Amino acid sequence: MYLYNSFTATREPFVIPTAAERPVTLYVCGVTPYDTTHVGHARTYLVFDVLIRYLRWRGAEVRYCQNVTDVDDPLFERAERDGISWQELSRRELERFVSDCAALNMIAPTYLPKASEEIAAVIEMNEHLVRLGHAYVCEGNVYFDIHTDPNFGAMARMGYEAMLATANQRGNTPNDPRKRDPLDFVLWQTGKPGEPTWESPWGMGRPGWHIECSAMATRYLGPQIDIHGGGSDLLFPHHSCEIAQSEAVTGKRPFSRFWVHVGMVYLDGEKMSKSLGNLVLAHKALQEHQANALRWYLLHVPYRDIFPYERGEVGGAGGQAGHLHDALRATGGAATALDVSRAREAFGAALADDLNTPLALDVLTRTAHEVLRAAAEGRDIEAAQATLAELAGVLGFQHPTGDE
Ligand SMILES: [Zn+2]
Repeated sequence: MYLYNSFTATREPFVIPTAAERPVTLYVCGVTPYDTTHVGHARTYLVFDVLIRYLRWRGAEVRYCQNVTDVDDPLFERAERDGISWQELSRRELERFVSDCAALNMIAPTYLPKASEEIAAVIEMNEHLVRLGHAYVCEGNVYFDIHTDPNFGAMARMGYEAMLATANQRGNTPNDPRKRDPLDFVLWQTGKPGEPTWESPWGMGRPGWHIECSAMATRYLGPQIDIHGGGSDLLFPHHSCEIAQSEAVTGKRPFSRFWVHVGMVYLDGEKMSKSLGNLVLAHKALQEHQANALRWYLLHVPYRDIFPYERGEVGGAGGQAGHLHDALRATGGAATALDVSRAREAFGAALADDLNTPLALDVLTRTAHEVLRAAAEGRDIEAAQATLAELAGVLGFQHPTGDE
């Protein structure tokens, strides 16, 4: 298949290994569990869900790691505001996230590690970075020295000033006097009073955000992985910092062969985000619409594009999913059997082309109409229905059941 690789900014062939050869390793940055899942998160994880289903359909085994960022400022701030422990908040919100994903029929990750349970791996990686001269210690904090990596930020294709401005918008603290360069990023920090801390060679503290993902990806999937994914807002600095840390520690390049980024979801012209508060929550949308409708809607735009969410349009996608449902439940006759083998080819070609889900959905729609027409003509549709069900499964649509 062809996949767009953000690292090279080109579409590149991704040769799918068979399950007998080796597993495909996929790491996707997970949520910070302090608030309810919105449809922007849902879109990102749905795209990787379809990628996994497609790779399996093509005969691959996929090892999928999605982390839980349960050691992070917004989580601690929310727990303090609401007067509950960060552990309790994180447990409750993770449960909700997992249940929203299950309601959308997403395949559960092979590994779902929590940062709070991976502190030893983080400390070990930081010790390596210090020993190798890529990191320095100052007053209990550890920082990555970006000048030790001549390729730092290569994937972002930005100059130093643009990188610094972007990092500052996304949590960087340029005025921290302990840093050698404002763009150096924190690997270990003493933390504010009241925040959870762990023992380390540098005193009590907690991990920086970026290092958590490098530690978990390496621990669960190995020093080099096939595909690393996430929302497009993570490309810089988060993923660029992950590359710098991981490659410095393992000495292996590239850390990930492919970097796949899903476009943001917009509502009323602005990026849907917890900080702006313009959210459509996944579980609310699922109260109004069937899971197949929401899945269809979120997959109808190419995954790299911005998704302009329109509440009124989910119903239309529900209509399309309804046709699929009708076609799978239709009853045919004994006249000439309907042959939809070309639909299978067209569907496979669409997904092989950088996961073109809108085109794959078109194939499903056309095939569903063909099946319904053939059923009305009394033709044998059994084999066609089996193919249609198989293709619908690759896009993760749940089978219609007898009881409605
Ligand atoms: Zn991450």
